Amino acid sequence: MNKRLKFNHLFFDGLLSSPCLLCLAANSSALGLCQPCLNDLPWLPDALCSQCALPCTDKVCGHCLSDPPYFDACYGVFSYQFPISALLQDYKYGSKLHLARSFALLLKNRVPLHTVDTVIPMPMHPQRLKERGFNQALEIARLLCAEQAQKLDFDSVQRQKHRPAQVSLSWQARLKNSKGVFTVQASSRITGQRIAILDDVMTTGASLNELAKTLKQAGASHVECWIVARTLARP
Ligand SMILES: [Zn+2]
Ligand SMILES: [Zn+2]
Repeated sequence: MNKRLKFNHLFFDGLLSSPCLLCLAANSSALGLCQPCLNDLPWLPDALCSQCALPCTDKVCGHCLSDPPYFDACYGVFSYQFPISALLQDYKYGSKLHLARSFALLLKNRVPLHTVDTVIPMPMHPQRLKERGFNQALEIARLLCAEQAQKLDFDSVQRQKHRPAQVSLSWQARLKNSKGVFTVQASSRITGQRIAILDDVMTTGASLNELAKTLKQAGASHVECWIVARTLARP
């Protein structure tokens, strides 16, 4: 009987699994990727600064020691390189929403979900939300928090200003562009909370830093960043 159940289980696994997202091989894992493709992904190295997740042989890099960001820690999965960069762009701009599941599972293996009280997906301005149709960070956060839905908070913080997309700006302009962008709802419970901000990509970290600053000013006791991929060059 047990054997039969097991057979059925395997049968349905096979039936339901989709081809690898990258090479279209039949045997993809729950992540949607086959093992050889998973092995070849641009995983972040182990030797990273715990605060900004840039390569560093010490626990915290000199940059974070001399000019610390407002966030206390940063967890990422990948370096923002091909093919992760292509998958993230397909997800965001090609509306391939099913990729959210793969990113959520990959993040789940990397981030300390049990140590934070609240997960806040990077807020999107309502105008941009209307244009894109979904908030890419929220969809990943929703799946990541599926079993602890009380941790997900997507309405305490609003993005106030609709400004040029960061991707078109120099890093100096990005820093300026990010200032004073976020507001916290008066009714929100941020005080004393350990908060993770979830975003898909971290480049200069200007938006994450500005949101971390806003959350700290609103009384958060700890803020960390969870990101699918980050660029490895310091701006
Ligand atoms: Zn593959
Ligand atoms: Zn650092």
